[in-house]
Amino acid sequence: MNLALTRVAVVGAAGRMGREVVRAALEDDSFELVGGVVEPEAPERGADLGELCGWGKAGVVATEDPPGDAEALIEFTEPEATVHHLSYGRPVVIGTTGLSDEQLARAEEAAKGVPLVLAPNMSVGVNLVREVVRELSEKLGAGYDVEIVEVHHRNKVDAPSGTALLLARAAAEGRGRELDEVAVYGREGRAPREEGEIGIHALRGGAVVGEHRVVFYGLGEEVEVAHRALSRRTFAAGALRAARFVARARPGFYSMRDVLGA
Ligand code: NAD
Repeated sequence: MNLALTRVAVVGAAGRMGREVVRAALEDDSFELVGGVVEPEAPERGADLGELCGWGKAGVVATEDPPGDAEALIEFTEPEATVHHLSYGRPVVIGTTGLSDEQLARAEEAAKGVPLVLAPNMSVGVNLVREVVRELSEKLGAGYDVEIVEVHHRNKVDAPSGTALLLARAAAEGRGRELDEVAVYGREGRAPREEGEIGIHALRGGAVVGEHRVVFYGLGEEVEVAHRALSRRTFAAGALRAARFVARARPGFYSMRDVLGA
């Protein structure tokens, strides 16, 4: 067994992100793809994972449960399934977004027994933007109005995006506030802006992979930070990085900040 290799299995292997992670793992010599999980009744069950993502035959097939030798699971499905997958009791990277507070609490509970990375956005760039937003928010102060606009493809189910919430939390944190106290989701009718509000707005359409803009509107200037994901590959690369981290970590609840700082 090659100890430099990280053996990963992808949960949600037939989805848009799942296929991208499968392909990235097959193309990276420091990972061994040992399995891929699809829904029990999925037509992809038994299919070759490499062929599913257009890479060519990989000799590893899609199954209902992950194989026993995976050192890390990489999970991109939907929140209810994510909670179910916690019962595997294995080191896991969760990319699925839109988890409720109760589902998040279940993940935190599971992390007492296994290492778990939860990251609503796996891209290195977004996680650096998060730091910039926190600092801008702190230093510009409450005299600047913060508005966040995100755009995603027409098939995205949760709104606002997990990334918009991550950035909004960073802006709130910079001002020593809880996001729940200051968040305003969209505006309609008579909705005058109150000082300290953080406005969050979701646009949906076409094939947009993911765009986020955080704008600080002052009276004499505007500061804007933007991130555009050009391909899902950027999330897949971050997911593999997180998988390498989680495979060697002690039990605990981690974020991309831990992964990138490691
Ligand atoms: P998708 O609909 O293309 O794929 C989801 C897949 O999960 C589907 O193939 C579905 O069959 C599968 N699935 C559902 N229940 C399952 C189960 N019990 N077992 C196995 N598979 C199951 O969606 P997507 O675009 O791949 O996005 C998936 C999730 O990842 C969403 O929550 C999305 O917001 C999130 N996402 C996160 C990041 C990030 O960087 N963290 C990036 C992109 C997308």
